[in-house]
Amino acid sequence: MRTLCTIVFALASACVTRADELAPLTQAEKDALRATILRLGAEDADVRGKASDELTAAGPRAAEFLRGELQSEAARDPEIQARLQEVVLTLVAEARIAEVLKDAPIRPLADHLKRRSCRACGSQDWALRELTSTALARALPRFRFFTLDWTCCKDEDAPSEMLAFCRKPDAVFPIVNVTSFKIMRAWVDPVKTREQAAETAGVLLGVSPPLAGGPPPAKPRVVSVEVTGDAKSGWKCEARESGRTVSIQFDERGALFGIVVYGR
Ligand SMILES: [Zn+2]
Repeated sequence: MRTLCTIVFALASACVTRADELAPLTQAEKDALRATILRLGAEDADVRGKASDELTAAGPRAAEFLRGELQSEAARDPEIQARLQEVVLTLVAEARIAEVLKDAPIRPLADHLKRRSCRACGSQDWALRELTSTALARALPRFRFFTLDWTCCKDEDAPSEMLAFCRKPDAVFPIVNVTSFKIMRAWVDPVKTREQAAETAGVLLGVSPPLAGGPPPAKPRVVSVEVTGDAKSGWKCEARESGRTVSIQFDERGALFGIVVYGR
C-alpha cells in the first residue's frame, strides 16, 4: 500500500511543474510569500485583492509551496483558505500550460482552465495537448488549438474538450458548437483568394467536432470543400459531412461571414 501511495504522490508532484525544479524558492522568497498570505485575510478588500495578485504573480514555480500552505495555521481563516485555493488553481493551470507551450504561461487560458472540472467525478485532473498542424497555423494564424483530456475518467464519462486560443486579442473559445465559430469569426484573417477560402473553410470544418457531434478528433482533419463565388462577391465553401451539408461563407472583403448547416 505504501508503494502505491508513493507512486501516486510522485506522479502528482511530477505533473505540477518543471519550472520549480529549475529554480527552487529561496527561504527569503518563502518568508515573503507567507507574509503575503496573511494579507489575504486583511480587513481592507483592496489589500486582500492586491495580496491575491501578488501571489499569482509569483508564477508556477511557487505553486507547490503555496499548495502546501493550504494546510498551514494561517489558512484556517476561511477567507485566506478560499483566496489561496484560487491562487493555487491558477498557478497549477499555468504550470501545466507552460509544460505544453514551453514558454510563458498564458493568463486567460489559465483563468479559463482553472474553472474546469470533470463532469463525471468533479476532479481537476486535466491534461492539455496542443494540436499542431501546419494547415491550422497557415489558415488560422492567430489561433492555437488545444484538446483538454480528462486523466481521471474514461472517455465516455468525460469527453475531451477542444479549445481555440487567440493571443491578440486575448480570448479563449471552447469549441462546443457552431456558435463558437461564429464568435471566432472576428479573429479569422480575411481570405484573398479561392485557395485561401477553401483552406480556411477546410480547417474550420476539420477542427469542429460539434458539426459532426461527439468528442473532438485527436488530430484536426482538413476537409475538402467545394468553392463557388469570386473575389468580388465573396466565397461559399461547402462540404458534405455525416449526411449534412456545411456551408462556410466569406463576404466580399474576405471576412468569415457565416456557417450554415443544413440537411440530415
Ligand atoms: Zn473524472
